[in-house]
Amino acid sequence: MKVLVAGAGLGGLCLAHGLLRAGVDVRVLEREDGPDSRYQGFRIALNAHGLAALHACLPERLHALLAAVSGPLAGERRVVDQELRELRRLGGVDEGTATDRYVLRRLLLAGLGDRVEFGRPVTGYTERADGTVEAHLGDGGRAVGDLLVGADGVGSAVRRQLLPDARVVTLPGNAVLGRTPLTERSAALVPGYGTVVHGTDVHGDRASMLLGRMEFRRPPRLAAAELAPDVRLPDTGSYLRWVVMPSESLPAGPRPWETVRAELLALLDGWHPDLVDLVRAADVVNSSPLTVRYAEPVPHWAGRRRVTLLGDAIHPMPPSGGQGANTALRDAALLARTLTAVQRGTAELPAAVEQYEQRMLEYGFAAVADSLERLPDFTPAR
Ligand SMILES: Cc1cc2nc3c(=O)[nH]c(=O)nc-3n(C[C@H](O)[C@H](O)[C@H](O)COP(=O)(O)OP(=O)(O)OC[C@H]3O[C@@H](n4cnc5c(N)ncnc54)[C@H](O)[C@@H]3O)c2cc1C
Repeated sequence: MKVLVAGAGLGGLCLAHGLLRAGVDVRVLEREDGPDSRYQGFRIALNAHGLAALHACLPERLHALLAAVSGPLAGERRVVDQELRELRRLGGVDEGTATDRYVLRRLLLAGLGDRVEFGRPVTGYTERADGTVEAHLGDGGRAVGDLLVGADGVGSAVRRQLLPDARVVTLPGNAVLGRTPLTERSAALVPGYGTVVHGTDVHGDRASMLLGRMEFRRPPRLAAAELAPDVRLPDTGSYLRWVVMPSESLPAGPRPWETVRAELLALLDGWHPDLVDLVRAADVVNSSPLTVRYAEPVPHWAGRRRVTLLGDAIHPMPPSGGQGANTALRDAALLARTLTAVQRGTAELPAAVEQYEQRMLEYGFAAVADSLERLPDFTPAR
């Protein structure tokens, strides 16, 4: 069996490992020119589903490295005001571990070699009469397989063709994602799982900021050199991740970080100096404007089951639940397990894909609903 995966994100790469473990031939087609061509280093909170999926799919020799480049994630989630006075607590979270998306993605690329093809965007597909599927590539090329998996994220080209009526909604307002090197002073802002700041911006409108700590147990590059020397991980230090949630007061669209920083500093004028300093000292490469999107539920579709979807390509959700990556990884592990049965001859491909889709749609859209329900905790009431 030959599987084509559109998208070398967290879900697509995890699937590729799971399939390789089962002896399935897999090709991953990625739009970007290389693994470093776009900013993507933000903290990801991995829960039991995400961790179980990674352990099921990644080769065992990489498990120790994954643990070494993760960090603690437990304790209370606090809500404070812009002067850092505690307003309330959202309850404790004890399970899970923190990791960085960029580090995790580099780790997931380990051992895949030229099975991952960069600079090859999937623009569409054709289901062929012989039961195979042909992916169309932006460079004019074609790739043929028994199954095409759209793991191409929230703007998925595969979803656009498979489910043209599926709706992805953008939250009103514009957000900013930032990252600031961790110091003793900034670490004190997040004593537990996370801290939410509810305040008022300079226009008198409500504003909020989410803070999360990414403290690597061991520096990723050193950990890789010791535990898996063939794996190249970035030379990145611990940091505090912050998100200014969607605000009507922030302009839209891409612009230089210096402009975004100046806008934020003006907006949060008068906030506690420790919060203002996070913006002032933010790391230019790893901070940017952010759009928050989620999908409306879709019913299970009819079709020949030569094309399917996983992760943000089908069920993107706001980061409020900390579940997007975890659900993408869970999809990857479930699909890998399902396709392993096909590879072994104990299941038929269309029925196996259908079964995967039924389960994935159920828990995937439950996670979207849960993330939307939690959104008010992260945005001050109007
Ligand atoms: C600020 C922030 C914090 C977050 N925190 C958490 C958290 O704590 N926990 C959590 O679980 N989730 C979190 N998430 C969500 C998480 O990052 C995503 O849900 C997750 O990355 C989705 O994985 P994916 O593999 O489906 O898609 P992605 O990781 O987005 O990967 C998609 C890949 O497809 C590629 N691609 C796109 N179009 C094409 C194409 N046409 N052809 C080929 N390739 C294409 C892209 O370049 C990309 O490499 C957070 C998100 C944000 C923004």
